[in-house]
Amino acid sequence: MPGEDAEAALAAAEAFRADDIGTIFTRLGENITRLDEADAVATHYLGLIDAIAARGLDGEASVKLTQLGFDIDEEGALDHLRRLAERAAVSGRTVWIDMESSAYVEGTIALYERLKAGHSNTGICLQAYLHRTAADVQRLLSLDPAIRLVKGAYAEPAAIAWQRRHDVDANFAGLAVSMLEAVRAGRNVRIGLGTHDVGLVEQIAGHAAALGLGKDAFEVQMLYGIRTAEQRRLAREGYVVRDLIAYGEAWYPWYMRRLAERPANVVFALRQMLP
Ligand SMILES: Cc1cc2nc3c(=O)[nH]c(=O)nc-3n(C[C@H](O)[C@H](O)[C@H](O)COP(=O)(O)OP(=O)(O)OC[C@H]3O[C@@H](n4cnc5c(N)ncnc54)[C@H](O)[C@@H]3O)c2cc1C
Repeated sequence: MPGEDAEAALAAAEAFRADDIGTIFTRLGENITRLDEADAVATHYLGLIDAIAARGLDGEASVKLTQLGFDIDEEGALDHLRRLAERAAVSGRTVWIDMESSAYVEGTIALYERLKAGHSNTGICLQAYLHRTAADVQRLLSLDPAIRLVKGAYAEPAAIAWQRRHDVDANFAGLAVSMLEAVRAGRNVRIGLGTHDVGLVEQIAGHAAALGLGKDAFEVQMLYGIRTAEQRRLAREGYVVRDLIAYGEAWYPWYMRRLAERPANVVFALRQMLP
């Protein structure tokens, strides 16, 4: 994280301008328990969207539904998202919905279907570790969706999710190729590959080329501070690259998921705490 406040995130995004790397901003936080907290989150994101536009940044916002009160009031969360999408549309920008644990997947997709019907500038994250995702991709294709495909960050049971890295990677590649084939067939799908797995990205780029599609048929989205040199290299080589910058005070659960993904980070984090 570049810092806890939006200003630090915006300043970090400025540094990517010269490399032609766009950004996605997310304010950390999830599962709020009072509706006035959801109102405050929505108000924060409206201000953020204005700040992105005022600075002329190629930036987008990404939110968690549970941050917008989805646990308490689903319609209210949808209303908040509509307001964010309307504000982002003023400057021609997109708003993304993160994907949370499996308990929220169906609700998030159903809400996205309703949101997308009136707001074309919206996107959703789907997780390759889930068995259901191939059907979800097909379900969403007719909406001309923006889909950020990720491997998945939560601990999900074997009944619904692949457990082995090899299986998740194979499904990731298969899902990406199915979206590229839809693009090739004339569908309007914005594909985001949210992964630091550069080998997988290059494998998918090979499939895109075989389908006669260019490097701009998809974009690569990575987290701030992870594989930064690779982000720059990919951008130099003509890939569309976006860096997701997270900020905020509620960093603990997010940070723990990042540590769980890569135990080596625990050692790294402990080293930072030493004098
Ligand atoms: C832009 C973006 C948005 C995301 N949004 C969501 C979301 O909405 N919902 C969701 O469930 N998940 C989300 N994720 C997280 C995602 O599901 C994975 O948990 C995470 O990206 C790690 O998997 P990987 O694809 O990078 O592949 P991995 O196979 O885990 O990693 C590939 C390589 O990348 C490097 N790497 C990966 N993670 C780290 C790390 N934390 N620190 C240092 N190096 C690392 C390592 O070298 C590793 O070998 C998002 C990820 C990105 C990049």
